[in-house]
Amino acid sequence: MSIRSGRQNNVWSDNWCTCSPIRSLISPRAIANAGFSLDATVADIVADDGQWLWPQAWYDLFPVLINIGSIQITPNMNDRFCWKDLEGNLQGFSSWEVWNCLRNRRNKVLWTNSVWFSQCIPRHSFHLWLVIKNKLKTQDRMAIWEAGSATNLRLMCCPLCKFDRDSRDHLFFQCAYASEVWRSVRHLVHMENVTDTWDSIMQWMELNANSRTMDHIICNILVSASTYFVWQERNNRLFSHNQRSANVLAKIVIDTVRLRIMGFRFGRDPNQKKILDRWLISKNNIEVDPG
Ligand SMILES: [Zn+2]
Repeated sequence: MSIRSGRQNNVWSDNWCTCSPIRSLISPRAIANAGFSLDATVADIVADDGQWLWPQAWYDLFPVLINIGSIQITPNMNDRFCWKDLEGNLQGFSSWEVWNCLRNRRNKVLWTNSVWFSQCIPRHSFHLWLVIKNKLKTQDRMAIWEAGSATNLRLMCCPLCKFDRDSRDHLFFQCAYASEVWRSVRHLVHMENVTDTWDSIMQWMELNANSRTMDHIICNILVSASTYFVWQERNNRLFSHNQRSANVLAKIVIDTVRLRIMGFRFGRDPNQKKILDRWLISKNNIEVDPG
């Protein structure tokens, strides 16, 4: 609590200073023997000059009281609840601050900025995050859940290439179908050196995560769009009879990235013309940053 008038806090039992509740240090009998009521508020125990009214002898009996500095009472303002952040600073209450204090903390991963950045397509980034964490319900993971039903397991195969069960590493992009999609789009962002293995893609993302060049931002958008649409096609084939060829899917990926680039604010980026030419975008179609 942050004390203002001191009228809303019981001086002995409420949590208003670093030593509170004071009642855990000083017994109710000692409080009563000193002539104080157990219902006293903070304001009842502080003098006009901010000094405490408890007996001087208490400082010898309960030295911890020395840590409670004098306070300034503001008579017409209510006491206020505060939130102590991780560094011990008192903050106004906000759900963001609470979440930040309570959340589980791990070391920051190297690929964060390759997935989450201001120009990203949020649903693609969310999907890419699931891919990185290997949390998609791919057949290899589902097989573990259905350990008892061997018949169904034998029927499982990748809906894209019909070869063996699918898995994160198979779909992105070692599957013959997915690999064809990836090979058809990666040259647009000069990622020819990034092979169709997930390790290769992760390596690239970790290495370039902190680069903010327009080229690398487009690479990240392309990677997340590619994983998103390959997964979408995989599900389409599993749950409906719609099938798109690898060429059609690659074109969807490219069109999606192109549309995103058209929404960019390029400012004075020296690579603007090269990027627009490569993606076949007319300069009239992009938003111009007035700054
Ligand atoms: Zn496959």
